[in-house]
Amino acid sequence: MMAGKIVKIGLEIHVQLNTSSKMFCSCPTDFAAPANTSTCPVCLGWPGTLPSLNKNAVELGLQTALALRCRIQQVSQFDRKNYFYPDLPKGYQITQHFRPLGLDGEMNIKNRRIKINRVHLEEDAGKTVDQNGEALIDYNRAGIPLVEIVTGPDISSPEEAREFLKELRLLLLYGNISDCSMEEGSLRCDANISLAFTNSGNNGGRVELKNLNSFQALSRALQYEIERQTDILDRDGLISSETRGWEEQEQKTYFLRSKESGEDYRYFPDPDLPSLYLDEKEIKRVEEEVPESPASRIQRWQEDLGLEEEECRFLISRKDRAWLFEEVAFLTSPREVARWIKENLAGKKNLDRFPPQFLAETIKMVENGSLNSTQGKEVLELSFQQKKDPAEIVREKGWEQISQPEYIEDLVLQVLEENPEAVKDFLEGKERALRHLMGKAMERSRGQANPEMVRKELQKKLREQQRNE
Ligand SMILES: [Zn+2]
Repeated sequence: MMAGKIVKIGLEIHVQLNTSSKMFCSCPTDFAAPANTSTCPVCLGWPGTLPSLNKNAVELGLQTALALRCRIQQVSQFDRKNYFYPDLPKGYQITQHFRPLGLDGEMNIKNRRIKINRVHLEEDAGKTVDQNGEALIDYNRAGIPLVEIVTGPDISSPEEAREFLKELRLLLLYGNISDCSMEEGSLRCDANISLAFTNSGNNGGRVELKNLNSFQALSRALQYEIERQTDILDRDGLISSETRGWEEQEQKTYFLRSKESGEDYRYFPDPDLPSLYLDEKEIKRVEEEVPESPASRIQRWQEDLGLEEEECRFLISRKDRAWLFEEVAFLTSPREVARWIKENLAGKKNLDRFPPQFLAETIKMVENGSLNSTQGKEVLELSFQQKKDPAEIVREKGWEQISQPEYIEDLVLQVLEENPEAVKDFLEGKERALRHLMGKAMERSRGQANPEMVRKELQKKLREQQRNE
């Protein structure tokens, strides 16, 4: 192994914006639509058609740039990136090459600052589907609004790259900017990586890795490249600048093309689209509407609700989970709520469809002693599965609390009669005998007696006996 190795990783992330229509036409953005049904002359690039910009996409792009603390360019511009490919109907892709929407931003991961070089808007290309050896083209994706986020080469390990992508995904999810589904392709990641010796100055070229479309693919491909490049540099070999793909089956990167033969995209400003002007009022308005970021939520939960960072990280890692927590946190102790969610609802999906008051009710029943914790867990499980009020489940189970004074009195009298030893202990000043009698009473009522009433009744009867002695 070579000593003093510096790893530099940068990421390029394409994110599908949460809009109902495409970037430059009114076609819907429905992912599940049958092939080539969400198309029109504009996104199919017919001659004579003109693009018109989607205002909502601009707002979401602006929101992204603001959330990543970029300097917003009040004048940005759309350019044509020319290349010839079957799934690109116009023969060019509209992007922001020369004047992007946002520049020089940053995002923190675990107290490390990662620079964001640029944030810009662009449209997606179509999709080539391989079917029985035939290449079929689906243009539903052509013209879908994307935002591209490019980081500086500040990331120093595959773990950090994964961490960054996770944080970014949460930021975009909480901002309602994108649904960030990597399976459906609404969050796609490319990476570039270069290695350098600190002592010998032997530096490797920059290698680009394309289509790392899962957290696992991202960290494994980077790890593979570090090993491959280290091996070459150790033998005083050269690492040329090239583009590589990721072979999921074999867990290997493979050569795609060298930089020297890289395409020339012949960028130029799109003459069909005017420059994009954003006045300060507009930027201010969007800035004020940016939803609270995950990082600020974590800080708030720690400071105002007394949660530990680890508890916050667990809650924030899923949006539905964080939502449920916030809905219930104020009804009882927030840490108790966090614990209940972690212990009982961690593996559950769609927590945002579970009525929050059901969780609150269950926790309250356990806290006031009308259910023991095992019963509480069961009630919550059933309530979640059947979307049923916990009180109803308690009734069905026959776990309702009995609070009639006559019943409690009878119960206590019986327990005192059956446990003369404990009564004697108590009268001799052994306080813990009370707890023993309490346990006996709850056992006798099969947990159904109101514990607070039982305790009061026991104390009353024992005091009476004390006076009579
Ligand atoms: Zn269209």
